[in-house]
Amino acid sequence: MLDPFGSRARELVKELGGIKAVLERIPSYIVLDHALRRVSWYKSGRVPDDVVTVDDLTDILTFYALLGALAFSPYGLEAELVKEANLKIYSKRIARSEGLTELSLPVEITDKNEIPVKDTFILEKRGERNLDPERKRGLELKYKVHLSSFLEFWDGSLKEVYIRNGYAYVTKGNVLKLWRKVFEHNTERAVNALYEITDELPDYYRKLREELGSLAREVFKERLGRYGNAEAAPLRFEFFPPCIKKAIGGVPAGLRNYAITVLLTSFLSYARICPNPPRRDVRVRDCIQDLGVLEREVIPLIIDAGNRCSPPLFEDQPHEIKNIWYHMGFGLTDRPGLEDSGSSPWYFPPNCDKIRANAPTLCNPDRDCRNIKNPLTYYLRKLYLENRRRQQEKGGETSEGGKGNG
Ligand code: SF4
Repeated sequence: MLDPFGSRARELVKELGGIKAVLERIPSYIVLDHALRRVSWYKSGRVPDDVVTVDDLTDILTFYALLGALAFSPYGLEAELVKEANLKIYSKRIARSEGLTELSLPVEITDKNEIPVKDTFILEKRGERNLDPERKRGLELKYKVHLSSFLEFWDGSLKEVYIRNGYAYVTKGNVLKLWRKVFEHNTERAVNALYEITDELPDYYRKLREELGSLAREVFKERLGRYGNAEAAPLRFEFFPPCIKKAIGGVPAGLRNYAITVLLTSFLSYARICPNPPRRDVRVRDCIQDLGVLEREVIPLIIDAGNRCSPPLFEDQPHEIKNIWYHMGFGLTDRPGLEDSGSSPWYFPPNCDKIRANAPTLCNPDRDCRNIKNPLTYYLRKLYLENRRRQQEKGGETSEGGKGNG
């Protein structure tokens, strides 16, 4: 299979009863070690032949097994490993294949009469006799992509491509470059969709996520040493989503309890001490050794936001502070100890659709909200992109595995 999001994959998933049915079946067909084998070679830089040539059904089941695990960690090192390893697997298959119409990127084959001969002569360097045959093949504009799809994913210069009649005419190398972007986009979208249903997924995926986490920490240990995974760290306000920024700014009377006690309390507490929780029933005491960080860095933010409400929340509802601790899992109290955590559930930030249903005015999505299903994943994604940017600036990927030609 050339693309786990392409037409062949979609047909297969449909035949198997849809994505939820596929995720339910996977634990009976794919043992954890088999799913891990799909990425465990990554540090060596060489994709094993049996992974490249596997049959379509096993291919899709092992890939979706990994996606199911990422639903528990959409922007951690696990996601990085799964994405990079699978990019290599599918790139290798695409490089070997001629017909690319199965890809999720809508690629068409160029008819040889579509481009004026004089243009192909120049663009494909047909007059250059010294060019070796492989290089010449690499210059052939064998494919075309409609501009609407092309422009969405192309981040190179438009001077590099031949545009005519609403299409970009491209080489195979260009198709691969574009497809990589489409693959990353599709993976992110799929994982975010699964994030909404993590509670419904079999325990298999949580275990697979744990195994993936150990593997990813080993593979990326240098990267981890420099920047760390998404773990407890000072809050980055600039990465908060619009709904959280709005709640922090204070809201009117009808919204106060939802915006401050439900949304802000859950978001700030998880974002500060457990942004990437291993499971949904995690307790505060599983993440920190004392309450100082909550008392110094989280509670004051919540109280300030409550005070900015109109009228100020804690002035006419002073008991609401107990509710704040309740929502962080300490039961109804205003003097909690760490040992009290677990007395009530630690509320997870509500998903975006719940926020839109309960407090529509809080949700003014920006472009980074696309594909996001929960404010916490918005924050995790921003942290992840920032780490990646810093790595790229410092050339941080040069000494790690997975850089071979595969
Ligand atoms: S889409 Fe989600 S994260 Fe973005 S503003 Fe709306 S509720 Fe917040």
